[in-house]
Amino acid sequence: MIAGLNPIPIKELRALASPKTWDFEVYLNELPSSRPIQGTISAELNDDFLVLQGRLATLLKLTCDRCLRAFNQGIECNPKELIRVGEASLPQRALSPKTPNLYSWVESLDPQGYFNPERWTFEQLTLGLPLLNTCGKECPGQDNYHEVTTVRANKEKANARTSIDPRMEILKKLL
Ligand SMILES: [Zn+2]
Repeated sequence: MIAGLNPIPIKELRALASPKTWDFEVYLNELPSSRPIQGTISAELNDDFLVLQGRLATLLKLTCDRCLRAFNQGIECNPKELIRVGEASLPQRALSPKTPNLYSWVESLDPQGYFNPERWTFEQLTLGLPLLNTCGKECPGQDNYHEVTTVRANKEKANARTSIDPRMEILKKLL
């Protein structure tokens, strides 16, 4: 656990008069990077929704899926997420007028539970990664089509098991 990014009880967020914010520069064990992850996160409890916004940037250490060479990949994102606090089964049209309507939610949290900014940072940064990591045009493993196809198929299978935000799919196509 990283000091300053400790999970915060939902109850504590509810008691705050203004959004809780985190400003940090950290290294995450699960996500090796060549420089610290620089981030800002704000969390605000708005009725029964946790409204999250962030700005994250770092240089990730990745391994090329084609030639297995290590390379650095710059990543920057401005994630926004709405998390339902309480019953997950509430229909989406039940959004209150006070809740920003530009989001939809896929996750829910127990009102007695916690929001974990460190976990959220990890998830948002990994969501933005392409299905296939390649070190670039100069990759010596370009002709390795069979292996590439296998890697891609395995990754797609792995991704299919976790729910993917459709907005991220659009972004991935653009990349
Ligand atoms: Zn490569």
